[in-house]
Amino acid sequence: MEKKLLLLLFSFACVFPSFSQQGNVILITMDGMRWQEIFTGADTSLLNSKKFTSQDSLTLVKKYAQPDANDRRKMLMPFLWNTIAKDGQIYGNRKYNNFVNVKNRYWFSYPGYNEIFTGYPDTLVNSNKFPANYNENILEFINKQPAYKNKVASFGSWDAFRRILNKERSGIYINDGFDDVPADKSSPAMDVLNKAQHLLPAIYGSEERLDAMTGLMALEYMKLKHPKVLHISLGETDEFAHEGKYDYYLEAAQHNDAIIRLIWEQVQSDPFYKNNTTLLLTTDHGRGLNDLWTSHWSDVPNSNEIWFAVIGKNIAAKGEMKNEGQLYQQQFAQTIAYLTGIEFKTNHPVGEKISILFK
Ligand SMILES: [Zn+2]
Repeated sequence: MEKKLLLLLFSFACVFPSFSQQGNVILITMDGMRWQEIFTGADTSLLNSKKFTSQDSLTLVKKYAQPDANDRRKMLMPFLWNTIAKDGQIYGNRKYNNFVNVKNRYWFSYPGYNEIFTGYPDTLVNSNKFPANYNENILEFINKQPAYKNKVASFGSWDAFRRILNKERSGIYINDGFDDVPADKSSPAMDVLNKAQHLLPAIYGSEERLDAMTGLMALEYMKLKHPKVLHISLGETDEFAHEGKYDYYLEAAQHNDAIIRLIWEQVQSDPFYKNNTTLLLTTDHGRGLNDLWTSHWSDVPNSNEIWFAVIGKNIAAKGEMKNEGQLYQQQFAQTIAYLTGIEFKTNHPVGEKISILFK
């Protein structure tokens, strides 16, 4: 490049910010997905355990077992490792002292999602049965910006998001539990999904639908309505883990990976989203070690340990982060705000944005 041109570009770079934000954001959460499986794939001792598996053992070995942890994690979540962790960034591998933790003291779902969406690990938010959240969340804050008005949506498998995100007050479109997508937001494909979710076995009871339904409804909603900020909450990993079904927990992770791939492929194929969208992937809490992998709670050590991954607009392809560091769940809300070009200011404290993503 000519020296003069370089000089000209340099002076421009000084005048203008390094990039314009105001992009689209997709946040996908995998409930209670441990960093251990994210970074090292299937735990061989749990995979071989009769106590925690019921599927055919030879099939399980073919699907998830390899001597090398890097091969195992790719088998478990191929899209995460072949695309997101290659073209984006992934944090939380404790082997490198790269730490991500929840800041709240409870280490279960509602307090975790509250921390993600409000940036504030509020000690008073202490139960999964907690009523409508009085804390303002980043999704409703973004929805108040003119450029994002009525362009913010949340799809969740668990029917608690209507409370966590305060459906009544927030004014954002929330579809959780077994909600049907209403006619004004529907299509022939959505109509099939609306019907299908009531005809499949409700294996987690009446409060939570299957992740395939949540993921495909969100995907169809992207095609129809082009939300600029979209949250998708998947829940199967946590459900199967609590039931002590390690093989089904792994299968849920693999299915979630496939859903994430579909969402990202839609981003790439739609000019509305392409080159203007950031995907953030994380979890609400960790889980215990060894036989305690089924559980998480403040009295289950290590279940405050989490991870996250990010890919998209203005995110450098740094891959797996191997530097020492400590990040917290309370930093996601301000990071999401930054990706939409605003600062999240509200009547409670908000964790600072994750600046290292953009360096
Ligand atoms: Zn749980």
